[in-house]
Amino acid sequence: MAVKKEKHKMPEQNPKERINNFDEVPLGYDEETAIAEAQRCLHCPRPTCVEGCPVNIDIPDFIQEIAEGRFDKAIGVLKKKTNLPSVCGRVCPYEEQCEGSCILSKAGEPVAIGRLERFAADHARKKGEKKPITPQPTGKKVAIIGSGPAGLTCAGDLAKMGHKAVIFEALHAPGGVLMYGIPEFRLPKDIVNYEVDYIKKLGVEINYDVIVGKTIDVEELMEEYDAVFIGTGAGLPHFLNIPGENLAGICSANEFLTRANMMKAYDFPHFDTPIKIGKKVATFGAGNVAMDCARTALRLGAEKSYIIYRRSEKEMPARNEEIEHAKEEGIIFKLLTNPKRFISDDKGSVKQVECVKMKLGEPDKSGRRKPLPIKDSEFTMDIDTAIIAVGQSPNPLVPKTIDGLKIGKIGNIKIDENGQTNILGLFAGGDIATGAATVILSMGAGKKAAKAIDKYLKRE
Ligand code: FAD
Ligand code: SF4
Repeated sequence: MAVKKEKHKMPEQNPKERINNFDEVPLGYDEETAIAEAQRCLHCPRPTCVEGCPVNIDIPDFIQEIAEGRFDKAIGVLKKKTNLPSVCGRVCPYEEQCEGSCILSKAGEPVAIGRLERFAADHARKKGEKKPITPQPTGKKVAIIGSGPAGLTCAGDLAKMGHKAVIFEALHAPGGVLMYGIPEFRLPKDIVNYEVDYIKKLGVEINYDVIVGKTIDVEELMEEYDAVFIGTGAGLPHFLNIPGENLAGICSANEFLTRANMMKAYDFPHFDTPIKIGKKVATFGAGNVAMDCARTALRLGAEKSYIIYRRSEKEMPARNEEIEHAKEEGIIFKLLTNPKRFISDDKGSVKQVECVKMKLGEPDKSGRRKPLPIKDSEFTMDIDTAIIAVGQSPNPLVPKTIDGLKIGKIGNIKIDENGQTNILGLFAGGDIATGAATVILSMGAGKKAAKAIDKYLKRE
């Protein structure tokens, strides 16, 4: 029988309705659709999809279980390699990873691996999972700094090896960007909490409101624990560095999303932490973070929500799915446009942004075509809120408190291929080592480091 060339469509909330709520946009496959999609898999003798997955999930195996209706077994296969399948099934850039390497993508659309992962994880969550079996304790203790995907994965894998993993998290909730950055309509927070609870059931302990580098030093942790892993992410926002950027009504994407997500500004008045949002909101940047900001602003009541980006659509770094969703929701894209300065009203709040039109030149160091200003093309736009989403750097607090630690050019912690820093017993991984990347790459780094820590703990 010929294989259907396209993926089965994902049912979604209607764009006109969803811009008025924070509920999840994609609704998930039902059982019948999941089985039909799973049956598209060819079970290749050399599954290139697995090579494309940074945590090497046995993709054909879990798909086979779904194809034959054994959904409980599918989650078992997934959990051998990932403790965050509901998260990965929602936010992973599959198109660049497993699906990008799927043989079917050569002559049509790949198997919808991400949607199937989400289906298996959601099915298990709704049905209820058995308490995981934990191994005999080894008596070794590891301190993990940060509870983002890197820290959670490293801690979960160490617990599965019998080591005691204790996480120290600066915020009052776990998950890192999964909790404070990615909005509810892309990644519901009860799902993040559920997956964190599973990791806790493996025996991982989480201490909240501990800012390592201030409340406690890495040196103290190194004395008390047998090894330390740093997974503090890339939470230092970049700014445009143009005149007027300190006016009222202008903030970083980090601040905006933390207020909207973690402090639940979207659920005012149930949560007494509202956020001031104007009628005309401009988000600067075109990555996933920018799309999240522009779409959140719309849901919080903006009448016009703009994405302002200096290159063209082809160079936008956001995932295609996020760009499509943003377009469907009515986000206005002002491309080949660069801000020059913000203009104040008489009370010190932003009222306009002056921009210049751009054209594309030859590729620059990033491999993308360099944006160049077009002479005398300046124009102004009326805005009352500006959100700056032009990138983040590794969080400097922890690295700068460690004497002799090797730091890279972007403030990242330098590690070898196993996550080992230049200091014995001190490991790192995720965005703090690579700069802003992806959930699955951070998870992959957490896994590698857990293996290396295990080896280190067992040394003679
Ligand atoms: P983080 O997730 O940043 O976690 C670091 C943790 O360390 C945080 O909880 C922080 O509070 C804690 N911490 C920091 N300093 C200290 C300290 N001194 N003491 C104790 N704890 C500390 N990736 C995708 O794959 N798909 C997406 O769709 C996607 N969308 C994104 C949307 C947004 C808005 C953002 C910001 C990022 C997005 N990313 C996406 C990127 C992805 O979320 C990150 O690459 C990933 O979360 C990095 O994981 P991490 O564990 O290294 O760090
Ligand atoms: Fe199935 Fe595609 Fe992987 Fe082949 S490459 S096993 S078709 S998911």
